[in-house]
Amino acid sequence: MSPAKHPAKAKLKETHSDGSRSGVRQPLEHIACDVLVAGAGSAGLSAAHAFAAQGRKVVVVGKIETHLAGRTVALFEGSLRFYRALNLWPRLAEHSAPMEGIRMIDDTGSIFATSPKEFRSREIDLDAFGENIENNALVAELAQAARENPSITLIEDLIDLFELNFSGARARLASGGWIDARFIVAGEGRNSQARQIAGITVATWSYPQVALTALLAHEKPHHQISTEFHKRSGPFTFVPLRGREGAPYRSSLVWLVSPRDALRLQALSPEELAAEIEDASHGLLGKITMDGPLGSFPMGALKTSRVTGTRMALIGESAHLFPPIGAQGLNLSLRDIANLVDCLEGVDLDEAEDIARGLERYERQRARDIGLRLRGIDVLNRSLLVHAIPVDFARAFALNFFSAVGPLRRALMREGVTPHGPTPKLMRAESKSLAPEHASARRG
Ligand SMILES: Cc1cc2nc3c(=O)[nH]c(=O)nc-3n(C[C@H](O)[C@H](O)[C@H](O)COP(=O)(O)OP(=O)(O)OC[C@H]3O[C@@H](n4cnc5c(N)ncnc54)[C@H](O)[C@@H]3O)c2cc1C
Repeated sequence: MSPAKHPAKAKLKETHSDGSRSGVRQPLEHIACDVLVAGAGSAGLSAAHAFAAQGRKVVVVGKIETHLAGRTVALFEGSLRFYRALNLWPRLAEHSAPMEGIRMIDDTGSIFATSPKEFRSREIDLDAFGENIENNALVAELAQAARENPSITLIEDLIDLFELNFSGARARLASGGWIDARFIVAGEGRNSQARQIAGITVATWSYPQVALTALLAHEKPHHQISTEFHKRSGPFTFVPLRGREGAPYRSSLVWLVSPRDALRLQALSPEELAAEIEDASHGLLGKITMDGPLGSFPMGALKTSRVTGTRMALIGESAHLFPPIGAQGLNLSLRDIANLVDCLEGVDLDEAEDIARGLERYERQRARDIGLRLRGIDVLNRSLLVHAIPVDFARAFALNFFSAVGPLRRALMREGVTPHGPTPKLMRAESKSLAPEHASARRG
């Protein structure tokens, strides 16, 4: 049924009735769209762009939050292809730095501690495994691109009520007014209200860890290598960041520590904290200076019973949550979005049965990918937290084995950057991750 014929929509104003090219519009009393994206974090904004590129009229609702302390995201090859396909990459590249290598250092003190392992992107014919970008810059750029996109309406508000029915969906803005949609993408993060209204249950658990995050300037170059120290409290990871005037060498840090250590470290002065980070990294990057405030994020995980409801689907942290090990969170979220877009391709959003068939495909395709990441990260994280000789041995054996056997080593690297299984259209490759001249301008 066309929007005009839909009884509930006949009296609705069209989203773009003002004809303006600006994405920010005053909320109208009633707004109609094809796809409503709830939540304007990195996943929600990315979904808005992906559905707009499919030719849908999109409304995305959420506050634009660009003050997360010390947070960056490492985006792997599949995610870079996603942003390139949507023509968003040129503006994101301005803020990012390539990762050409990953170094793992066993710093557990275990009697089975392995020698450091290093993986290079050129071993799997890529210029870089991916790119590291500041979270705030990513969200700010995606929001700005949404404002400039005539197919997207960005409403900087919150949704306080969802209604999901076979015949249509709608959401109420906290400031008043309703949005009628044919389909809802729930990207409002871990406490998703749309998920709850759809009756999707969640299992949650926590880890005795806090992730401390920081941006750092340092004396020695990182050579585009990300270094992961495996410590008893969890990983301590440096990821290359783009340099800036006065600070040519910069990295981000994610440091998983016990809640008690987090409190102690948070109470230190910037100079004391930088000295602790230098110690913990055995002086790898020389003298360290804090390049912004310290962030602190309690570690937990979340698994949902399903990722779909009536006329709605979950993406991002609404659908899965786990500790930041192996930089999987947003990369997995972009695969959610690219898969969902494929599953709804050619689907008439006025036809509930068509949507339901598309969502069955989405449910099947996401179950394996999400389940694998949740289990893998849980096992790896717990293997560091548990002080048990057999566990130490198994971890060391697995790492030695995978890094020594060439085909397995390459398969492991490929799985990290472009997981096997059907590749969604938005993540199918043109070629390599970076044009060489582009990469050299951003090295540090
Ligand atoms: C320390 C750390 C390091 C990480 N590093 C990486 C990495 O290197 N690589 C990687 O891929 N991933 C990484 N991640 C994960 C990544 O940051 C997250 O997956 C990603 O930011 C989550 O995005 P999201 O949009 O799903 O959720 P959020 O960022 O939580 O966004 C949800 C948004 O919805 C809004 N919202 C909530 N309720 C409503 C409502 N009712 N109406 C409207 N809006 C609402 C919220 O205000 C928020 O803005 C890391 C995570 C952590 C904690």
